[in-house]
Amino acid sequence: MDFLLSKEQKDIQKAAREFALGEFPDRAQEFDRNESFDLSLWKKACKLGFIGLFIDEAYGGAGLGFLEQGLVTEEFFAVDAGIGQAILSSAFGSELLSVFGTEEQKKRYISPLLTGEAIMGTAITESDAGSDVIAATTTAVRDGDEYIINGSKMFITNGTIANYLNVFCLTNPDNPDRHQRHSFLLVETDRPGYEANKLHGKMGIRASDTAEISFSDVHIPSSNLVGEEGNGFKELMEFFNLTRLHVTAQGIGISRAALTESISYTKKRKQFGVPLASFQATQFKIAEMATRIKAASNLYYKAVWLVDNGQMDHTLVAMAKWFSAEVAVQCADMAMQMHGGYGYLDEYKVQRIYRDAKILEIYEGTKEIEKTIIARALL
Ligand SMILES: Cc1cc2nc3c(=O)[nH]c(=O)nc-3n(C[C@H](O)[C@H](O)[C@H](O)COP(=O)(O)OP(=O)(O)OC[C@H]3O[C@@H](n4cnc5c(N)ncnc54)[C@H](O)[C@@H]3O)c2cc1C
Repeated sequence: MDFLLSKEQKDIQKAAREFALGEFPDRAQEFDRNESFDLSLWKKACKLGFIGLFIDEAYGGAGLGFLEQGLVTEEFFAVDAGIGQAILSSAFGSELLSVFGTEEQKKRYISPLLTGEAIMGTAITESDAGSDVIAATTTAVRDGDEYIINGSKMFITNGTIANYLNVFCLTNPDNPDRHQRHSFLLVETDRPGYEANKLHGKMGIRASDTAEISFSDVHIPSSNLVGEEGNGFKELMEFFNLTRLHVTAQGIGISRAALTESISYTKKRKQFGVPLASFQATQFKIAEMATRIKAASNLYYKAVWLVDNGQMDHTLVAMAKWFSAEVAVQCADMAMQMHGGYGYLDEYKVQRIYRDAKILEIYEGTKEIEKTIIARALL
């Protein structure tokens, strides 16, 4: 067993850390308060090669693995989760295209994501179809060599800024097997009938765009079908197995941020004439955070290593995603507690960490859904 990173992996990690530390801290509070983002940061990150490390070189990627992408994710989220998400979600869906897309789709739609020319997203959730993705009712009806799409989707990352989206549509409603009724279709957002409304008031990751979107007789060519018609649910499960790795790395990054802030604050802040760090109650929290982060990291590294070595273990991915998200929420809570009243103010980074962490237990499958996957494999 080898837990050591190669020189190339360490270089990627260092470059990501330096980029994040150099670019994020001055802007993080502004983006969080205003629910805004500066796309020039995303373009810079593309130029430096931080997007699509796991994508084949043939489509403009680095031809590396999910671990290398995870190292970048962890470093970005360890500095600011909102900016990390705004930058790295710009290629959310390239995982699906890289596995199920045609050669033409990969060339046309993946490469621009890596050069800073296009942003994408993936639209699955609907107002009445969240955890129960198969309940999705957005329809795509075949008409000659086109599909016509109608319906709406909720909580779509990059909905107002994406150039195109993978959309999970009902294409075969009469199939007796409800797992074979949906398909993924690639929809360019400049097609007539597409509308997006930004959702305001998110608790965290406020630099990231989230929208409610709708399709009203949106025509797309049938060549925009990704994968096989009726196979969308299976493709979605494979997609989640990959994107949950990203979320796991996000959790480790956020947890590290909580620990760093706690160590620095409790060494400086004095009560009863001594630094908070000298109290055993503080020391136990610090020890617990560090140990939980190591445990989450080890689960993650094993899960991602297996994926990069062609041995997907979807139960382990579900365990890693759930655990890392929970550790992030726990670490954020402990960090907030150690900051006392000051942490409650948004001038302190810990408040943002506390708000940002929660999303990890919700998107890409809630923690209950992850536990259901794990239990199913065992029972
Ligand atoms: C900021 C943000 C960004 C997002 N980005 C995207 C995106 O880009 N694309 C996209 O498609 N979606 C996106 N989502 C949607 C996200 O994936 C869903 O919110 C999530 O899957 C949960 O669905 P829901 O909100 O409808 O909750 P529900 O499914 O209604 O769940 C509510 C609660 O009930 C529990 N529950 C539901 N079913 C079960 C069950 N069978 N057993 C036990 N408990 C259960 C859940 O775990 C949860 O605790 C995003 C959401 C947010 C908030």
